[in-house]
Amino acid sequence: MQQSKEQWLATRTDPMNWPNNEYFQLLIDKAWQLNVELRSSKIHELWYYRPDSRTIYIWEPDLINEPLAYLLTVFGHELGHVTDFDRHPEFVARTKDLHYSNVPWDIELSGFVSGFRLLSELGIPLAPETFAFFIAPPMQQQVLEIIQAGPQQSRESA
Ligand SMILES: [Zn+2]
Repeated sequence: MQQSKEQWLATRTDPMNWPNNEYFQLLIDKAWQLNVELRSSKIHELWYYRPDSRTIYIWEPDLINEPLAYLLTVFGHELGHVTDFDRHPEFVARTKDLHYSNVPWDIELSGFVSGFRLLSELGIPLAPETFAFFIAPPMQQQVLEIIQAGPQQSRESA
């Protein structure tokens, strides 16, 4: 029982200054299809996903201050977490008592890889190098190596 997009926007998202951009809107549509809430983050500069309430928290000032490529990367990453947590219920138990800034390495890495693949599936033309630019080393290099290897490899192996 999928809500209409209008109903979802009205009840399960905070009003925010969403970028008026077709690719960003595709990610909003994806959040709607995945039945995720979008709420304003109260933690400085932090975007994060809470699987218990199925909510992505968005650091609102980024929507105005950061370049579109950054927004696609970070929103894609959070949606990557949503699909990962859906596929791997054990991720929920492993992160239950952890702070959002202390996510296990493999879960964080997987969120980036799944996020990049989600962007690709949606036809959002973000180069692997551009996506990885916004990731801090040393994870940056690991993500880049995996996403440059192509979509057919290591989807379930990590
Ligand atoms: Zn993450």
